[in-house]
Amino acid sequence: MSKPITKKQLSDFWCEEYAQKNHCCLCGNRGLIDTRGKVFTPAGFECGAVVFCICPNGRTWKKLNPKALENM
Ligand SMILES: [Zn+2]
Repeated sequence: MSKPITKKQLSDFWCEEYAQKNHCCLCGNRGLIDTRGKVFTPAGFECGAVVFCICPNGRTWKKLNPKALENM
């Protein structure tokens, strides 16, 4: 059984992998990632989604308004 990661571990991971010059290269600091209609498996299954980003903007948005994605 795995342990959930801590906020510090997530933040460190984001900084190491996805922070570019103090900006999020996943969402452009918007806090959202929308891959609908853009991401497909090799077999052609469309698997895009709109999700909160793992960056500080995305985490804050999710914390303040976890239902924000429901109407997107
Ligand atoms: Zn982001």
